[in-house]
This record gives sequence, C-alpha cells and structure tokens, in this order.
Amino acid sequence: MSAEIIDGKAFAGTVRERVSGHVKKMVETHGVQPGLAVVLVGEDPASQVYVRNKGKQTVECGMASFEHKYDADIDEATLIGVVEKLNADPKVHGILVQLPLPKHLNSDLIINTIAPEKDVDGFHVVNVGRLGAGLKAMVPCTPLGSYMLLKDRMGDLSGQNAVIIGRSNIVGKPMGQLLLQANATVTIAHSRTKDLPAICKQADILVAAVGRPEMVKGDWVKPGATVIDVGINRVPAPEKGEGKHKIVGDCDYASCAEVAGAITPVPGGIGPMTIACLLANTVTATARIHGLEEPADLTF
Ligand code: NDP
Repeated sequence: MSAEIIDGKAFAGTVRERVSGHVKKMVETHGVQPGLAVVLVGEDPASQVYVRNKGKQTVECGMASFEHKYDADIDEATLIGVVEKLNADPKVHGILVQLPLPKHLNSDLIINTIAPEKDVDGFHVVNVGRLGAGLKAMVPCTPLGSYMLLKDRMGDLSGQNAVIIGRSNIVGKPMGQLLLQANATVTIAHSRTKDLPAICKQADILVAAVGRPEMVKGDWVKPGATVIDVGINRVPAPEKGEGKHKIVGDCDYASCAEVAGAITPVPGGIGPMTIACLLANTVTATARIHGLEEPADLTF
C-alpha cells in the first residue's frame, strides 16, 4: 500500500477549531452568537443520529443549536410555516432541513422556502445558481469538505484533470463547480458514461460519489492520483459475525491505495468533513448576515 491517507477526521478537527475561534471572536467582539436550527421530520434512525451529532458539535463550537422535531405525518403548510418562522428569527443564522423528507412532502418546495442567506446546506436554487455563476454562495457541505481536503494536500489545482463520478445536486454537480472555479479541467461521469474506467484513469483528481460499494478499482486509478471517496455504503460483514455490517466507500480501498498518491478512507474521510463544513457554513452565514468580515479559512 503506497498512498498517503488523507485524514478527514483530523482535518475536520482543525476546521472545528477554526470555527470555535471565529465564534468566540463574534461573541466577544460583536455580541453575535451564530445559531444553527435543524429541522427533523419523522423517525428515520440514521437521520436522528446525524441530527444528534450536528447538535452536539454545534454546541461544542460555542454556537446555539435549535432542534425542531416533527412527526412524519406533518403537513406541508405547517412545515413551511416552521421554516418561515426560522427565516425571521434573528437568533438563527443557519437552517438545515434534514433530508430525506417523507414522500408526501415536496422537498424542493421546503428547501426553497429557506432564506438563501440561511441555507447552510447550499441546496436552495439561489445558492445553486450563484455557485454556478461564480458568485458568493452557500456551498453544499460535502463538496466543500472534499474541496478543502484537496486544497490542503495539493495547493493550486489549476490545470489538474479532475474526474467526478456522480452528478447529484448535493455532491457531484457542486463539486464540479468548485473544481472548475479552481481552474481544474473537469469531467463529470454518471451512469450513462461510456468506458468509465478509461476516463477515471486520466484523472489527477478522482472523486467518487456514486453510492455503489467499492465500485472503483485500483486499475481505474492513475498512478499518483488523489482519490476522494465520498461514498458511504452499509454492506454485510460476515467476518465480524452473523448479521453484522460495515461501512465502505465507493472505491475498493485496498486496490486503489496501491496505485493512488493519496486517498480518503471510509469511514474517517469525507464524512467528518461534511459536518465540520456545516458548522463552517453557519459561521459564514452569520458573518454575511451581520456584515462582519468573512472568515477566509472556512469558505471556498
Ligand atoms: P445519488 O444517488 O444522488 O447520485 C449517484 C450518482 O452516481 C448519479 O449521478 C448516478 O448517475 C451515478 N451512478 C450510479 N451508478 C453509476 C455507475 N454504475 N457508473 C457511473 N455512475 C453511476 O447519490 P449522492 O450523490 O447523494 O451520494 C453519492 C454517495 O455519496 C453515496 O454513497 C452517499 O451515501 C454518499 N454521500 C456521502 C456524504 C458524506 O457526508 N460523506 C454526503 C452525501 C452523500 P445518474 O445520474 O446517471 O443516475
């Protein structure tokens, strides 16, 4: 195994330290405490764990955390009312509606009800458009975290050949925008892409955001490439005992690490960076809302 392991868990700790420092300064100098509101609908166990972790880390960084939990049968008008109230609340600088929402709720409508300046997930169409246009935007947390790790390892990304597998609105497309703005040459591959292994093999930067366990093999990777594995897949792990599971990425770690120059592990890579970037985005949103200087070390 030759690749350097990109320690997302450690870097997320660095981002949280930066966040705590900026929060302290905002509170002490300006009397402003950043606040993050998370809206959770239903009982989805994974979502409940995420929301608990987010709340805990928010408070640990000195910010205010507001959790709003509703039964799965909440109607759309009521939920929109909740978001509108948070939009108007001066203690709230960031609003996150935990996805997925139950099927009877129109996620796009709910997300687009969030005030764009408080949209710390960066999913509102205004932020999507602003990012695409190269304007100041709230940047979705997973691509932002991936980008921060790339910049930390590689510095200037100009002219790098970047291949992203996956074109979702939450990962693939915004990742493409960030890399394009960093002057990389970007290819976004998807399920209709022809000869994916050959395309991946051209990549100096390979980002896998597919949702298919261990799909990317070592012989798809250009020697020395930097591999960012966004995937989080729960698969059976009979070696751990009957009925046990483990989390793996979209890359076959063992074979990719033989060839890559650096690679993010799963778990411990992009996952921790995603929550850290949510906290970072809340600080950025607070600075913008109050007209304070934006922390340059927390944004794109
Ligand atoms: P989506 O399901 O929304 O998108 C998957 C993308 O992969 C689609 O664009 C799809 O193409 C493409 N794809 C599917 N199969 C293939 C294939 N065989 N070859 C090439 N492309 C393919 O997933 P997300 O973007 O939401 O998430 C991707 C992964 O990242 C998941 O494992 C998810 O759990 C993880 N994730 C991790 C986060 C973190 O914090 N680390 C946060 C968010 C997601 P098409 O568009 O043609 O269907």
